[in-house]
Amino acid sequence: MIQVRVLGAAGGVTGSAYLVETSQTKVLVDLGMFQGKDARTTNGQGERIDVNNSLGAIDPRSLAAVVLTHAHLDHTGRLPMLTRAGYNGPIYATPASGDLTEAVLRDSAGIQEQDTERENRKRERAGLDPLEPIYTKQDAEAVYKLIKDVPYAKEAPVAPGVKIRYYEAGHILGSASISMSVSDAGVTKTIVFSGDVGPRNAPILRDPDPPSSADLVFLESTYGDKDHPDSSASVEKLIRIVRDTIFNKQRVIIPAFAIGRTQLLLYHLMAAQDAGQLGNIPIYLDSPAAKRATEVYMKHTELYDAEAARLVGCRRLVTGLSTVRLVESPNESRALNDSWDPCVIIAGSGMCEGGRIVHHLRHNLWRRGTAVVLVGYMAEGTLGRKLADGAEQVYIFNDPIAVRADIHKLDGFSAHAGRSELLAWPERMMKGRPRLVLTHGEDGPRAALAAGLRDRYGVVAELPMRGDVIPLA
Ligand SMILES: [Zn+2]
Repeated sequence: MIQVRVLGAAGGVTGSAYLVETSQTKVLVDLGMFQGKDARTTNGQGERIDVNNSLGAIDPRSLAAVVLTHAHLDHTGRLPMLTRAGYNGPIYATPASGDLTEAVLRDSAGIQEQDTERENRKRERAGLDPLEPIYTKQDAEAVYKLIKDVPYAKEAPVAPGVKIRYYEAGHILGSASISMSVSDAGVTKTIVFSGDVGPRNAPILRDPDPPSSADLVFLESTYGDKDHPDSSASVEKLIRIVRDTIFNKQRVIIPAFAIGRTQLLLYHLMAAQDAGQLGNIPIYLDSPAAKRATEVYMKHTELYDAEAARLVGCRRLVTGLSTVRLVESPNESRALNDSWDPCVIIAGSGMCEGGRIVHHLRHNLWRRGTAVVLVGYMAEGTLGRKLADGAEQVYIFNDPIAVRADIHKLDGFSAHAGRSELLAWPERMMKGRPRLVLTHGEDGPRAALAAGLRDRYGVVAELPMRGDVIPLA
């Protein structure tokens, strides 16, 4: 028996998790956090419950190994729940992914603890029992100890009858597609997990390099319905917004994903300063997780594409990045809002669902002249999505806040491949007529990609929902 249970990012873009099962073993691919609408559901009594609070069909005691595609929270965010539940087997990742996963989970565990503390203060006043955080920093630390490095292109056995090989996915540093060879009862099948696929020609990263054969392919479909505009237009627009807003003595607020997008933004801002297009404006990086991730980016220069390697060679990226002001403590972060000095603030979380960006938005959204620059994907139901959709008022910590800031959406910084690149990604594999399964996309983009794949390759892709099982042998 060989089968794959789709446990997340099916009918949505968050909570990625796949359980590969044979008669001898079970291997988990990714275990991400659900965010936005994917995270909320109601139980039989109509009460709201957080789906992140449960491991569902995953029994940590029966699990032989975990394999990660990349470090983003929506692919790694629930790993500490496994260690909290007693899992102590290996967690395989590329070396850069392992380092970045540590930065992501340290941040996430801190947020879990803080959010629970805040909630418990409310509960105490209401005479209710306190809640436990879904995991703690200690649970996250237990994860780091289990991480085992697997470099790109090297075949590694991970469980009885299961071998993996990592391929460049070009999405963030260390990101990989997985080719997994699974043998059971005399049958061997190759399952490919695309992971999140990056665009071609992105700065810093190498281009995606997909595997060449498979029996079953899981392909992400985040932008299955559209191509991104040219990134150089977005870079120009970003620089213009920053220059004009600072000239008008106002602030630029950029919600950014700590891992990947932040380093990309810094790269462009530094390059513009270097080229004399931006003066010496204060840029605050208000995210300890982004700071740690930037350090990991500086450490793994062996993974850079030729252009970034050249910049590092002449030390521009290194010296450029060191001019950014890093905001460490929550107090320093709050102090930024005690004055109205013009500056650029880059803070997480990317979809504005938590983290320090929420405070900066609360203090600045209602001010005319503030520029909020949205540079990433905003999942349905998130505060970032509401801003992107043009809400005139939003609620932050239950307070109504008027949106008078200018909201700019720049699509050219995506860390995801656009439609044409997704259609081309499985090209070499399609010669063997594999089954094709689309995940990691909302309904519209996923259906649009399925239609495109049918036209191009004559295959009908499967569109599973959370909990569906895909039998292979
Ligand atoms: Zn990702």
